[in-house]
Amino acid sequence: MICAEYRTAVSARLDGERTDVVADGAGLDEHEERCADCRDWLAVARRLRALTAGAQGPSPEWSAGLVDRLLGRLAADEGDQARTA
Ligand SMILES: [Zn+2]
Repeated sequence: MICAEYRTAVSARLDGERTDVVADGAGLDEHEERCADCRDWLAVARRLRALTAGAQGPSPEWSAGLVDRLLGRLAADEGDQARTA
């Protein structure tokens, strides 16, 4: 199994989709054991998933404001890059 296959299958698993249609669970565990990059990736993916779950919680106004702030910051970063380029 290559990293891309592993990550596709694991993100499907995090989303609650059936992983047996993407890859077998034993293959996933085996890849995780021998690939440090994917272990790091999995840690980040789980954290993002937890954050996303929180943003979909009881306050849509809050998450909408967060998205606006993040997009505004992205735009500002791009502006900085444009000036220094
Ligand atoms: Zn990997």
